[in-house]
Amino acid sequence: MKYSEQAFERAEAELSKRRKRAEEIHIKRTEEIERVAPEIATLQKSLAATGAELMRLVVERREDVPEIIEKVKEKNLSTQETIKDLLEVVKGDRSYLDVPYFCNVCKDTGYVNGTRCECLKKLLRKYTIDEVNQNCHIKLHDFNEFRLEYYDTGSINGVVPRDKMAQIYQFCRDYALNFGKGSPSLFFFGRTGLGKTFLSSCIAKRVMENGFNVAFGSILDFLRTIENERFGRAEGDTLDILINADLLILDDLGSEFQTSFNESALYDIINSRINLDRPTIISTNLSASELNGRYNERIVSRITGCFDPIPFVGKDIRHVKRQLRY
Ligand SMILES: [Zn+2]
Repeated sequence: MKYSEQAFERAEAELSKRRKRAEEIHIKRTEEIERVAPEIATLQKSLAATGAELMRLVVERREDVPEIIEKVKEKNLSTQETIKDLLEVVKGDRSYLDVPYFCNVCKDTGYVNGTRCECLKKLLRKYTIDEVNQNCHIKLHDFNEFRLEYYDTGSINGVVPRDKMAQIYQFCRDYALNFGKGSPSLFFFGRTGLGKTFLSSCIAKRVMENGFNVAFGSILDFLRTIENERFGRAEGDTLDILINADLLILDDLGSEFQTSFNESALYDIINSRINLDRPTIISTNLSASELNGRYNERIVSRITGCFDPIPFVGKDIRHVKRQLRY
């Protein structure tokens, strides 16, 4: 995945904030221990002093340096253990005097042996996708904002919308909660105003809160951005970002212009994500026959073959919502 320059700047700023925070806590704790448990502070100081002593021996090129180093090391280890035992008694936390880095692997520097640490990669992915989502004007919602009472209790062709939506709601909640690499791709379909975008936004929010990268937006906006980037009218690599996000939610399939560019970009996104085993959620107001009439067979067969269909049923809840509000 290519990261934007802005993402690098933001990641660097975040790492520096984390380091600063960890060091401040460390200083405060050290001062506290000096006050409440001076015996621990003394042991800490003796540890620091042996470092200086060893340095002196090395500089003097004494022959017995290796044996001395071994001995000092052993002593230091036992002193460290004593310190931890005392901290356990005084603070109930053996690592109370360790610098509390956010990432102990790279000590919040972002690099290990010259290569990017996982924590840095995670920040870069997040910030790069944030930039893409900035163009998305869909509001994110919480699952508990969902109102089942907007849905009808009368049966339509043997299906009671409120019952069906209760099932779908539960399914979406579980999906978001358990989201991971092996999660299935979903195809939300049904008429306008049945809550497809709403539930998609709930999934997006929860999955993001669980630490995954989610690209979420209308297919129309995404394809427009990709086209502008392709023809040099804008900077960025939205196509690459959409393909690599942990979860991609494409809202309102069918709202985009029917052009060969859009069709091939859409196929590229859907197909690449399937091959990479990355879940995608697509929502559409199109019926099955409209879908078949509008898209070429390659796209339709990828969607029908690799996505779990989730049918939204009922009457447009936007009218009910308005009525209930007044
Ligand atoms: Zn790290």
